[in-house]
Amino acid sequence: MAARLFGTNGVRGVVNEDMTTDLALQLGKAIGRFFGGAVAIATDTRVSGDMLKSAVSAGLMATGCRVLDLGIVPTPAIQYYVKTHDVAGGVMITASHNPPKFNGIKCIDGDGTEMPREKEEVIEGYYEEDIPCRQWNAIGTMEEVRGAGEAYIDAVLTHVDVAAIKAAGLTAVLDCANGAAYQTTPLLLKKLGVRAVTLNADAQGEFPGHPSEPTEENLRDMLRLTKDVGADLGIAHDGDADRAVFATEEGNFVSGDKSLTLIARTVVASKGGCSVVTPVSSSSMVEEVVKANGGNLIYTAVGSPIVARRMMAEGAPFGGEENGGLIFADHQYCRDGAMTIARMLECIVRFGPLQAQIDSLPRYYVDKRKIECPNNRKNDLITHMKEEYGSLGKADTTDGLKVTFDDGGWVLMRPSGTEPIFRIYSESKDEGLAAERGAEAEAVALRIMSGIGV
Ligand code: MG
Repeated sequence: MAARLFGTNGVRGVVNEDMTTDLALQLGKAIGRFFGGAVAIATDTRVSGDMLKSAVSAGLMATGCRVLDLGIVPTPAIQYYVKTHDVAGGVMITASHNPPKFNGIKCIDGDGTEMPREKEEVIEGYYEEDIPCRQWNAIGTMEEVRGAGEAYIDAVLTHVDVAAIKAAGLTAVLDCANGAAYQTTPLLLKKLGVRAVTLNADAQGEFPGHPSEPTEENLRDMLRLTKDVGADLGIAHDGDADRAVFATEEGNFVSGDKSLTLIARTVVASKGGCSVVTPVSSSSMVEEVVKANGGNLIYTAVGSPIVARRMMAEGAPFGGEENGGLIFADHQYCRDGAMTIARMLECIVRFGPLQAQIDSLPRYYVDKRKIECPNNRKNDLITHMKEEYGSLGKADTTDGLKVTFDDGGWVLMRPSGTEPIFRIYSESKDEGLAAERGAEAEAVALRIMSGIGV
C-alpha cells in the first residue's frame, strides 16, 4: 500500500520542510505517467509558486508530457481551461487559504473536476515507484499560454444577465487577499459595469494584507471600507479564489451559509423548483428556504468533490458548502469564486439591497466545539456515540453522526479528516438550546472516551 499523499485538497505542506522540490519532482513524474499527454499547470501568488511549478513541470516533461503554463490564475480558471481544451488534465500549485509558508499540489481530472480519490491512489502508487523517464529526444515541452483568466471570466459572463447588472450601476469593495484572483475578479467587475474599490489586489505571496482564509476577523478592512464608501456590497476571496464571501452595504459579514441560501433561493426560483446539494454540515436554513421555494435538498458527506459528483448524478443545477464554495452546474462542476460573485450581483439586482435580503432569512444558531481524539479511535467513538446518543433523535451516518431532533435542531459529530480532533456542531433556532445540546453531546463523547480507554 502506498502512503496517502493527497489530503482532501491535494498534497499540502510547509515549503522546503515537507513540501520540497524533491517531492514536487517525483510527484510531477507520477502525474506525468498518469496523464501521459498535455497537462495544464498554474499557480496562485505564493512566493514558492514558481519553484514548485518548475519542479512539477520537470517531472511532467521527463515523462513526455506537453506542459501548458497558464501563469497565475484562480483554481476554477485552470479547471475551466482543462474542461474546454484537449488536455489530459491539470495541476494547480496552491495551498488555498493556508498561511503563506504552505503550498500544495492539486490534480485536476481531464473533465476539469477535482480528481476522484481512486485516481489519486493510482498516482500515489506511481509516486512510490522508480518511474521510467523518456529518452533524451522524446521528452516533453513547456509553453506559456496567455489568456486563460480572461477566457474564464468571459465564460462566467455568459451565465448572467450582464445588461441588467450593468444598468444597476453597483459599487463593490473587492478584497483579493493578494491571491490568485488579483487580475480576473477586477476584470469581471469591470465587464459587469461594477465600480470596484480594490483592497489587496496585487500579487504578493507573503499575504501582507491579511491571512488568506476569508473569515470575518481577517476581513475587517473590507467590512469597514464597504460601509465607508457606501458600496452595495463587499466581496472577498480565499487565496486561490475558488471561494467568495460577501459583506452587506452596512458592512456586516455574510456567513457562507447565508450566501449559499440566498443564491440557492434564486436558482430554485428561476428553475421553478429543483434539487440543491450540500453537505450535512450546512445550516438547516438552506433546506428551509429551498423547500419554501419548491425545491428539494440533497445532503452529502463533507467535501466539494463529493458535492460536485452528486450534483452530476442527480442533475442538480446548484450546490455548495457553507464556507463560500459554491458550484454552478451550467458553468462547471467545481467551486467557483467568480461565478459566485456574478450570481450574487444578479441577486442584488433582482431582489434589492443585500442587508434586507439577509435579514429576511430564517435565524439559526450554531454551537461549535471540538474534542481531541486520536485518529485510530475515531471510528470507535462514532460507533459508541451512535448507540448511546443516536436514539435521542433521527440518526444519520452520511458523515460522522448527525442526530436530528423533533424540533428540527440537530447535532453533528464528525471526525476531522486531517487533525486528531472530533468536531461537534449543534444547530437550533433557539440559541440557548443549541449550546445546551452541544454541551450535552460533548459530555457524552467525553464519558464514552474515558469508558473505552481513549
Ligand atoms: Mg480555496
